[in-house]
Amino acid sequence: MARSRKAQSWVAKHHDQAIPESVKRHILERQMNAAGEVICTDCGNVIRPGQVKAFDHETPLADGGEHSEANLRAIHEKPCHAIKTAAEAKARTKARSQFAAVHGIKTSKSELRSAGFAPAAPQHRATAPRTPKFEGDIMARRITP
Ligand SMILES: [Zn+2]
Repeated sequence: MARSRKAQSWVAKHHDQAIPESVKRHILERQMNAAGEVICTDCGNVIRPGQVKAFDHETPLADGGEHSEANLRAIHEKPCHAIKTAAEAKARTKARSQFAAVHGIKTSKSELRSAGFAPAAPQHRATAPRTPKFEGDIMARRITP
């Protein structure tokens, strides 16, 4: 560790805060091998210059991880980050449903469905019969001279 103890490791003030360039550089330097290549902590392969990388939270923010230099690491955007993100989302969904099951909370999706449309009355004709506008018979007008 070449950095002095006085240099405070960056910790974001809030989760939406952008990672400063200097912090990204520190993270990349931290992951460099002897040859000066940046190693993906996920797959262990080299992240080549110009290759799209993601600054990923080792402990996801959703799991209480800190948005900080210490919890961030550089990994390949594809496939490493994409796979990790998908796996975390799946794990969270599973954990949520297990928690719900343990505590007797139903999470069935069917509960969220609307009642839907009321069933239509059975149709016997192609067109509905006309309803008369008034009672009585229609007669020819008597023309008086
Ligand atoms: Zn990788």
